[in-house]
Amino acid sequence: MFWLAMIVLTAGLYLISCANYLLFHALVELFSVVVAGLIFALSWLTREQEYNLFPSVIGVGYAFVGLLDLIHTIAYKGMGIFAETGANLATQLWIAGRFLEATVLLTAPLVRTAKTRHVLSLFFASYGVFVLLTIFWWKVFPVCYLEGSGLTTFKVAAEYAIIALLLTALYRIRKGQPLLPRVIVQYLSYSILVTIISEFCFTLYVNVYDLANFLGHIFKLWSYFLLFYGILDKCIREPLSNLYLHLYQDKLRLERLATTDPLTGLLNRRAANLLIETMLEESRKQALPLSLIMIDIDHFKKINDTYGHQAGDMVLKELAGLILKTVRSSYDVAGRFGGEEFIVALWNTDEVRARAVAERLRREVEAYSFPITSQIVIRATVSSGIARARDNETLEEVIARADKALYTAKSHGRNRTETDV
Ligand code: GH3
Ligand code: MG
Ligand code: MG
Repeated sequence: MFWLAMIVLTAGLYLISCANYLLFHALVELFSVVVAGLIFALSWLTREQEYNLFPSVIGVGYAFVGLLDLIHTIAYKGMGIFAETGANLATQLWIAGRFLEATVLLTAPLVRTAKTRHVLSLFFASYGVFVLLTIFWWKVFPVCYLEGSGLTTFKVAAEYAIIALLLTALYRIRKGQPLLPRVIVQYLSYSILVTIISEFCFTLYVNVYDLANFLGHIFKLWSYFLLFYGILDKCIREPLSNLYLHLYQDKLRLERLATTDPLTGLLNRRAANLLIETMLEESRKQALPLSLIMIDIDHFKKINDTYGHQAGDMVLKELAGLILKTVRSSYDVAGRFGGEEFIVALWNTDEVRARAVAERLRREVEAYSFPITSQIVIRATVSSGIARARDNETLEEVIARADKALYTAKSHGRNRTETDV
């Protein structure tokens, strides 16, 4: 998409340049001024990010490059805005802008502290003001273009000096800048390379409306887009979206940690209580029955003592699986209430149907072979107590009655289900 857009844009600009070169020039330069402004705005808005030293230096630098380019645009031969009618003024501003751009590209990747960033930003700003004064006020900036003979030696030499600066910048970046976000290196290198080609075109032109001049401007536009795309996509959008993704994943992980029992994967006691509390409220609003089952493993101590604590843990895990298989996942809630005690809340379920559920679980556990190893299996049974929530009863009171029923089941010989009525 990026390349396609650039090619279509270039073709369109070529057609415009044939019809009216001044319009072409103004459009291209204004595009790059806007891109420079966007780079500045983006980096300014994200300047507090620590990873962002490079974009923010580039941003301040390009703000002043953009300013010089804007004045260059309105000073271009034929615009008729300044008193000077020839091509010299715009060419001087051009050289001043390119020199600043090359300096920015050379120095920005080296910045490693916020303080250097400030110093460098101040330097860019001072340079911008100083060079404008030498051109407009003191009028000491060397002549760059002479009507009749074209580019002066100074202008061509300055372009080569700028190319040398850019080559140095490119070399240093390719050599590896540990402080530079690695992802931007590629875009930055392309951008500098295209700028070098652009500068080379600008050493060749004879007339400010000729083909070399056209190509130079097109390459300049490309270099700006590459830089902008690199900064926008690789230095700002990508890290931010990664950050959001990580934050979201962390949030999910924390929620899971806070609400699940690590051994069984069921809800922990606190989470189960909260959830059942809301179920209780809702069941009253809708006038639907809600029943609780408290489940406790029989003689679990003996399992631990005989086969070891790890075998006990395995039984707890397997039992949690059996409980989940028994309840309806989208209506009911199952949690680990304590050591080997589980709680189940059955939505829209009276005590008779709750008893049927508990009995089904009891029989399944009774028949289940809890595997210690491939050879040894453990048998276990559970007892359950059931209570159906009454009007105006708190959750604690319902749980207490279910617990009482469980105690009855235990005292009547275990591997039983009792209901509190
Ligand atoms: P009862 O039939 O009366 O329920 O007898 P019980 O032995 O199951 O009852 P008791 O409450 O006396 O013992 C529960 C045991 O569960 C004691 C404790 O060591 C064990 N236990 C609690 N939490 C865990 C756990 O996370 N893993 C293992 N392996 N054992 C646990
Ligand atoms: Mg027990
Ligand atoms: Mg117990």
